Amino acid sequence: MKRRALLAGAFAAAAGSARAEAPAGEIAGVPADKTAEGVPVLTYHRLDPLASHSGTIVTTPVFAEQMAYLATNRVHVAPLRDVLPVAHGAALLGPTVAITADDGWRTVYTEMFPIIREHRFPVTLFINPPMIGHGGAYLTWPMITEMVKSGLVDVQAHTLHHPNFNTEHAKRDPASYTAFVKTEIAGCRAPITAALGLPADMLAWPFGIHNATLDAAAEEAGYIAAFALGSRPLANGDPTFALPRLQIYDTDRAPRFGWIAAGHPRQQLKKVVA
Ligand SMILES: [Zn+2]
Repeated sequence: MKRRALLAGAFAAAAGSARAEAPAGEIAGVPADKTAEGVPVLTYHRLDPLASHSGTIVTTPVFAEQMAYLATNRVHVAPLRDVLPVAHGAALLGPTVAITADDGWRTVYTEMFPIIREHRFPVTLFINPPMIGHGGAYLTWPMITEMVKSGLVDVQAHTLHHPNFNTEHAKRDPASYTAFVKTEIAGCRAPITAALGLPADMLAWPFGIHNATLDAAAEEAGYIAAFALGSRPLANGDPTFALPRLQIYDTDRAPRFGWIAAGHPRQQLKKVVA
């Protein structure tokens, strides 16, 4: 309870222009007056100890470097749930990020967990329950349970089977598609709650694909928020069922990583970081 209270204290209540009065934090390599007010929700997928075989794989040494950067520069790493109020105008008291990892890859346990445990950084996993324990590449329920017991890891929904909703919409008739959407979205909550005793009330859209129909389905299923992708931090006014997250790459090293951690859109990188 003490940990939650401290983290909740990182935010001031939403109040008019309070955001403008929040003290700017300093991040190495990024001028203090360039720090922003949004919260980058850092998104990872697989880690690999040696090589980045595909775009979304971050190598373990780079991940360790990124986490050390956050610690050294006193960037506050908040549980994902605690940054939701920022979309409604809650003020930040300094540079803040949240960390997420999608798809339930086993390397979240073997590579990522030891590093976040060392720093005591909270991480939210978005998983597809039927994939857990399915083949050697995915996490097992005992691995997830151990991570949850550490108090650092939250587990949330990424739909049941990680569908591409655009493809499914194109190939199904309306009734079949509606039923499919409901099963994939609503049906993802119970297996997580049953296995871990967690509420599973936040959703990450597979491939970042969503639209008004899907957003409504998520709301109807009882989710309190859903995350898409994007290249910018979560900020005041962002829609509850399409909150932006930033995919982090193996090439995101300081000062590039510092620019992102400071709450800036990735698109602005070229202007500031060579
Ligand atoms: Zn995914």
